[in-house]
Amino acid sequence: MATEKPIVSIVVPCYNEEPVIDETVSRLSVVLQGMMEEGLVSERSYMLLVNDGSADRTWEMIERHHAANPLVSGLKLAANVGHQNALLAGLMQARHHSDCAISIDADLQDDVNVIREFVLKFLEGNEIVYGVRQSRATDTWFKRTTALAFYRLMKSMGLKVVYNHADYRLMSRRALEQLSKFKEVNVFLRGLVPLIGLKSTSVYYDRQERFAGESKYPLKKMISFAFEGITSLSVEPIRMVTLSGFLFFGVSVLAGVYSLFAKLNGSTVTGWTSLMLSLWFIGGMVLISLGLIGEYVGKIYKEVKHRPLYLIENDLRAAAYTERDET
Ligand code: UDP
Ligand code: MG
Repeated sequence: MATEKPIVSIVVPCYNEEPVIDETVSRLSVVLQGMMEEGLVSERSYMLLVNDGSADRTWEMIERHHAANPLVSGLKLAANVGHQNALLAGLMQARHHSDCAISIDADLQDDVNVIREFVLKFLEGNEIVYGVRQSRATDTWFKRTTALAFYRLMKSMGLKVVYNHADYRLMSRRALEQLSKFKEVNVFLRGLVPLIGLKSTSVYYDRQERFAGESKYPLKKMISFAFEGITSLSVEPIRMVTLSGFLFFGVSVLAGVYSLFAKLNGSTVTGWTSLMLSLWFIGGMVLISLGLIGEYVGKIYKEVKHRPLYLIENDLRAAAYTERDET
């Protein structure tokens, strides 16, 4: 029965992905087509390419594919809002038109053949299926080490994380409904999705080299991403600052007592150096603390403004579905 087969959507955020779009569309089409022929998914399954304010011809290419290929749909954001927000925009759109949504990067680093396994796990009753990288052989040593350090750090801050899982995952409509209730402005999906709960499982795969084009995540962005991820989900860092504040206060009291004794015993405190050093040290700590506090205050500022996370300029699929959806 056609009605029992799930409508699957594949959500792909695209930012200046001109060199890879053609290949991405053709590979995802093969996967979707295959699953349809097998009778696994509904004929209404599709891929949703989200153009995240690209400066190149990405959107023109998406429109062209949409016109030629019924499996391709497109969503155009009015400006570049970053990977996480673009993905969220796509997922929130997809939840109205599909039973489950799979998120994948445009650059084909994640093995598209795993999509079928995702769907099988979904059919077994899982609401969330995480794609976990088994080997990161194609990533540099540096990327692997920093990534591992990041997962460890997240975990030590009491956050739920799935090791070696990025944003390659399947979410059921129900899970997406839950996700839509998280009203935060600082979105870090990897940290949010595990908070949803529901039945979930993992699927393992090997990560490939980027198909073409360049990574949009150079080191600087990676660090800020990690920082964002932690500060948007945990108040642990701020607690650590407070703790270290107490620690330094304790040390300075001891030092004061010590120098008093030294003075009484006749040996004057000569340490201009140690004085300067500790001044600088404490000064540094104070600045770090202020910076961290500022980080949270800034986040609160963003949250209270409740600015929209993204603005949709054009939705190629909406036109065809408006009548049915409004019921
Ligand atoms: N991306 C996006 N908006 C951005 C930056 C990236 O939508 O501002 C998309 C990009 O097109 C890709 C995905 O996010 O599909 C992941 O980016 P990338 O492959 O450059 O990151 P990496 O795999 O190197 O971490
Ligand atoms: Mg990539």
